[in-house]
Amino acid sequence: PVRTRFAPSPTGYLHLGGARTALFSWAFARHFGGTFVLRIEDTDLERSTPEAVQAILDGMQWLDLKADEGPFYQMQRMDRYRAVIADMLAQGTAYHCYSTPKEVEAMRERARAVGAKPRYDGTWRPEPGKTLPPIPAGVQPVVRFRSPQDGVTAWDDLVKGPISFDNGELDDLVIARPDGTPTYNFCVVVDDWDMRITHVIRGDDHVNNTPRQINILRALGGELPRYGHVPMILGPDGEKLSKRHGAVSVMEYDRMGYLPEAMVNYLARLGWSHGNDELFTREQFVEWFDPRNLSRSAAQWDPKKLNWVNAHAMRALDPADLAARVAPRIVRRGGDPASADLPAIMALLRDRGETLEDLAEGAMLFCGPYAPADDALRAEVLDDAARVLLEDFRQRAEALPAWTEAELDGLIKAILRDHGAKMPKLAIPLRVAVTGRKHTPSIGAVLALLGRETVLERLAASLA
Ligand code: GLU
Repeated sequence: PVRTRFAPSPTGYLHLGGARTALFSWAFARHFGGTFVLRIEDTDLERSTPEAVQAILDGMQWLDLKADEGPFYQMQRMDRYRAVIADMLAQGTAYHCYSTPKEVEAMRERARAVGAKPRYDGTWRPEPGKTLPPIPAGVQPVVRFRSPQDGVTAWDDLVKGPISFDNGELDDLVIARPDGTPTYNFCVVVDDWDMRITHVIRGDDHVNNTPRQINILRALGGELPRYGHVPMILGPDGEKLSKRHGAVSVMEYDRMGYLPEAMVNYLARLGWSHGNDELFTREQFVEWFDPRNLSRSAAQWDPKKLNWVNAHAMRALDPADLAARVAPRIVRRGGDPASADLPAIMALLRDRGETLEDLAEGAMLFCGPYAPADDALRAEVLDDAARVLLEDFRQRAEALPAWTEAELDGLIKAILRDHGAKMPKLAIPLRVAVTGRKHTPSIGAVLALLGRETVLERLAASLA
């Protein structure tokens, strides 16, 4: 059975690259009917914070990437790592190394001097027939992995194809510090082993860790997972995506008014494809997911395309659903979403915006506090000719049999006809008199949504 995992380090928020990795791991498990595991890699005590853990959980929840198992926390697994290290020491696949950091630095220097790769020279590595130096007093040893020195470590990467490293290039990695705490690469191996991970999908910044992890896992007698390293996301300028390019935290996109389903759609397409399909649901994504269609080349973040995807996702929603998502944003802007027919407003506005924030802003015309036009605007627009048309409109609107967009459009046309005037001569003064603004969506629709009472009240006040 397929088992995948997402293993973020909680040092900040869930960023776009991490979210995409999580999405691919999740879809992989879902597609194959497998299990998706969430593991929090919180062993870096200086950089890991509870807030960052929460930010990751929030981001996963927002994107609706549910873990089937976990979250597991590495800090809660310390005893297990120590036990594995003790086993390895007993079996001779790891050894104590008493070289001080200074001595190791000197070894590296010597290697550099002869043009070799800087490395630990194996002083404390046990070999048949080799006598180890006497153990120095007062030195707390590190534990090193006894890495194979010959041959190659190779794997067929799910994304990048065959990759291999000469074992001669790999140091005897430190797996436990002098105080006994296990190191990063070691914890990952024990976890992937214990959690029976079959497919490791992660960023390609981890490619160099993979041969070390493979060798440790082999020494433990574990079965190797398949590895797939996805390329990073680049900014529009071709540099690695970073804060310079705008928001990189997933939850920031929530605040800016993107729908999680649009985010999933867009992130999925960044680094994965299914023919020419650009718009799809999460169900389709899971159904179509095939790791062979993960891209080998880095994807570029494209805010315009994200907006386009988001606009489509908004239009695909039922107006009532859209209204429910926009309502809290109206409240945050000081408006009252209950004061108007929000689903109808959404139906009117949704073709005019790209984000939920755009819609909330537009809805403030109906749900926000009414600010009548200032004197300058009144003087500019509400001249005598305009007042004649508005007064006629006011009287006939009072008697309109039904307060609908169609009726109101009909009335506007009739007035223009009767006075021999063109549309802007009435539409602009009407907007200013009733909304305080010169620009609004189609005037008939706006009047219909504001309601008869409000329109007549504001008209009378504006004409007074
Ligand atoms: N914790 C690592 C990171 O956040 C990921 C490790 C892995 O996926 O193996 O970059």
